[in-house]
Amino acid sequence: MQDAGRFAWLDLVHAPVLVVEGEGRRVIRANASAVSLVGDQLDGRDLADLFGAYAAGRLHGLLAGPRLDTEEMVLYCRTPFGLATFGFKVARLPEGDGTVVTLRDHRESAAARRGRPLPAVDDFGAKLEDIVRSLPVGVEIYDVNMRELFFNAQSDQLFGLGAGDQTPAYGDFDGWWERAFPDDAIRAEVIREWRSCMDAVRADPRTVQDAEWEVLCRDGQTRTILFRFRFVGDTYVVVFWDVSEPRRLERELRHLAVTDELTGLCNRRRFFEEADRAFRIAVATSSDLSVLMMDLDHFKGINDSHGHAAGDAVLREVAGRCRAALRARDLVARMGGEEFAVLLPNTGAAGARLVAENLLEAVAGVPVTVGEMALEVRCSIGCAALAADDRTIAAVIERADRGLYAAKAGGRNCVVMWAAEPEEARDG
Ligand code: GH3
Ligand code: MG
Ligand code: MG
Repeated sequence: MQDAGRFAWLDLVHAPVLVVEGEGRRVIRANASAVSLVGDQLDGRDLADLFGAYAAGRLHGLLAGPRLDTEEMVLYCRTPFGLATFGFKVARLPEGDGTVVTLRDHRESAAARRGRPLPAVDDFGAKLEDIVRSLPVGVEIYDVNMRELFFNAQSDQLFGLGAGDQTPAYGDFDGWWERAFPDDAIRAEVIREWRSCMDAVRADPRTVQDAEWEVLCRDGQTRTILFRFRFVGDTYVVVFWDVSEPRRLERELRHLAVTDELTGLCNRRRFFEEADRAFRIAVATSSDLSVLMMDLDHFKGINDSHGHAAGDAVLREVAGRCRAALRARDLVARMGGEEFAVLLPNTGAAGARLVAENLLEAVAGVPVTVGEMALEVRCSIGCAALAADDRTIAAVIERADRGLYAAKAGGRNCVVMWAAEPEEARDG
């Protein structure tokens, strides 16, 4: 090689040195020390191959600049042997047709700085570790044998042992389950779920598995924690954060969305959801199911004579009486205005009629007291029971509505059962 003589001096230099062509992209020559640091056959190699695109880009920028900094530039490098940090010092050759790049290996000093041996990690690694340590989500890393390699501050804050306790040097994996899930049955279920997540992420490292558990935390609070599990190579990584507040808000919004504001009963949306669910269960288990539709009689008259507020008070009282008269498994909803619906699982036609007559008595038996007034309240009720031909719950509700219409037409303050076949009302 013609440059061999020109660069003979290079091998007299003990530090690792590369000579790079003018534009700073390609290595013209490397000394023995550089070879032992960066690898064999360096001549002609692109800097990006040796140090990664990021470091090469920074070096190009430096070499293309108007003047060469005399400061060492420390760069995070992706070398063919893994991640490393090198310091780079550059100087132009007097002939002006190349640049001398002196390398320094920073791995040693990074390890010394942190007081413990590190694998091929560098100061970017240290920075990364600092970042992960202080992330606002919990991060835990385990080896294949579930030995804890790392946990960050958030993990410690949520799940760590209290300051006075003996913190084990390495993660006490089994102990965590027992602290976090004091109930044996719940713990067994959670561990079963976790194992199935583990099987899935082990089988396919591209997948991430989620689980959400109620966890007893370090501060003695039970919180809803969302966990995400995955493997990175054969390292098991868990990321998690507290979702108690968003879940509480969701529950609250959900409750508001399905609750009638005036009476606190379920609203029509919830009634239809629950009725649909009950219908599917009844069909699947060949069980009975009935629906009642109730409407207050001449309610407009109460509003007209005593005012809207009195009407509201009556609606609240009727709601309370219905709830009290029903079994825990029954569902009563305010469908709107002065109309209520009742879902009666495991109840056939005869049982539904009895419940309806109880409700009639509960509403009308004792006058409703509003302030000084004792108001007579009456209602009409239509009933229907699930029949073999019903394809949806809507069919049952429609028959109950027909029963209600017939009860109103038949003089009010009564119960009418509307059977699926034949198409006629049988008055109660
Ligand atoms: P019927 O026996 O035929 O059912 O007669 P009704 O007067 O009960 O029926 P109608 O449907 O004519 O009137 C229902 C009344 O209910 C009219 C409306 O002002 C009143 N209403 C509806 N929602 C509320 C409410 O939230 N509060 C009060 N106070 N009244 C309501
Ligand atoms: Mg009415
Ligand atoms: Mg009405």
